[in-house]
Amino acid sequence: MSQPVEDLFKKVTAHAKEYGFIFPSSEIYDGLGAVYDYGQNGVELKNNIREYWWKSMVQLHENIVGIDAAIFMHPKVWKASGHIDGFSDPMIDNKDSKKRYRADQLLEEQIEKYEKKGKTDKAQDLQRAMNQALNDNDLQAMHDLIVEHEIVCPISGTRNWTDVRQFNLMFSTQMGSVADESDAVYLRPETAQGIFVNFLNVQKTGRMKIPFGIAQTGKAFRNEIIARQFIMRMREFEQMEMQFFVKPGTEMEWFAHWKKSRLSWHLALGTPAEAYRYHDHEKLAHYANAATDIEFKFPFGFREVEGIHSRTDFDLRNHQELSGKKLQYFDPETNSNFIPYVVETSIGLDRMFLLLLCNAYREEMVGEGDKQETRVVLALPPQLAPVKVAVFPLTKKDGLPEKAREIMNRLKLQFRCHYEEKDAIGKRYRRHDAIGTPFCITVDHESLQDNTVTLRHRDSMQQERVAISELEQRIGQQVRLSSLFEQMSM
Ligand code: ATP
Repeated sequence: MSQPVEDLFKKVTAHAKEYGFIFPSSEIYDGLGAVYDYGQNGVELKNNIREYWWKSMVQLHENIVGIDAAIFMHPKVWKASGHIDGFSDPMIDNKDSKKRYRADQLLEEQIEKYEKKGKTDKAQDLQRAMNQALNDNDLQAMHDLIVEHEIVCPISGTRNWTDVRQFNLMFSTQMGSVADESDAVYLRPETAQGIFVNFLNVQKTGRMKIPFGIAQTGKAFRNEIIARQFIMRMREFEQMEMQFFVKPGTEMEWFAHWKKSRLSWHLALGTPAEAYRYHDHEKLAHYANAATDIEFKFPFGFREVEGIHSRTDFDLRNHQELSGKKLQYFDPETNSNFIPYVVETSIGLDRMFLLLLCNAYREEMVGEGDKQETRVVLALPPQLAPVKVAVFPLTKKDGLPEKAREIMNRLKLQFRCHYEEKDAIGKRYRRHDAIGTPFCITVDHESLQDNTVTLRHRDSMQQERVAISELEQRIGQQVRLSSLFEQMSM
């Protein structure tokens, strides 16, 4: 059923809460801005996405290994990485509503408005002027653009703006018992630095030869000025990153390789190719010599889910300088030392989660005549679904629950299963459609006679009679991660 996109997004967020995927953090205290908890189904889906990513990196590549670095790191790490001096966004406050905005986002929204109204010239002029101001780090120019284009605060409707200031996005806290300036530590804003500082530890102890990669998943924290669109922009989120160390001069080949390989990881999930696009960066971060975003068409437009960056030797070189420790690779073939270049792939786990929810949410009319009703189904890739199989006895008597339990006890050794005997079968099917369970098994009186059950498929709603002895194989074929890997090009 097609529906307005804003409605779709509202429905997805409401559904995520109603069915135990995502709850606002500390909800009984009215929540905490842009912080969310994953519920009983959310945690399973999240774990499955992480596992799909982890295995595709570490299990399928002989030259990629994983680590798990601490969230806290030496404060000098963030000096070397450039985060203390440069990890900030331009912000502006409206004096009447007391609301804070990112100056660049206000301008971008204005550009979108111009485009929607067909004022292409105005949009292009503003885009150019904004790029220039961002490039020159000219905060006054950004302020002037906001005034000149008569941008109003969406809350107060006024143009009573403060100056534009830089706002560092890192959270800091104190370590130890003395609250002294020198004790300040940061919550990491990206996981990558844990990999850079361990580069030689891993290379030496793992006897890794260039090119090789180090993968990591874990929490990152950013004090985003405005956090909105649900789990799209959070203050505490999870990243899945892989830094690939290469010989200088070969980085562009590897950049092209990972660009392709990462898109194929996404497409193997069955998400439509036309919902994806690359966004190559024209304006590069100070450390990069090439960068692209993999963007997905969310209900509110194309947005970045993953970044692929060629980071040169920027990080390793700066860590080497600031720490005074050599971070070089000895190349036995040429008998020389060099600082490797790095191509990284960096994807937000929560954003990937949102992508899958938005892509999976369907409302369908089913049934005939006055039996017609709306079925809400999450058509998640079966391999990532929180629950793989639901087992139902048709009734609560005649030995059917016992038989169903027997099947469940076997299947649960392999798959995440769910047992339910309450309510009519149709209702139980609907509950599992709503959380994306690909298979439901119904045990009836016939099952006691001939050891067959009804296997019901989520997407087609088709039902077939299957021998109990075949269930593991039939289900396994479709829910194992290996079935995704077979479709990926690496
Ligand atoms: P954006 O431009 O959306 O702020 P970014 O370019 O700062 O993102 P990176 O630093 O490249 O993002 O981080 C890599 C990935 O981490 C992003 O592609 C995104 O999926 C995820 N990510 C970054 N910031 C957040 C956030 N605040 N909440 C959720 N995910 C995030």
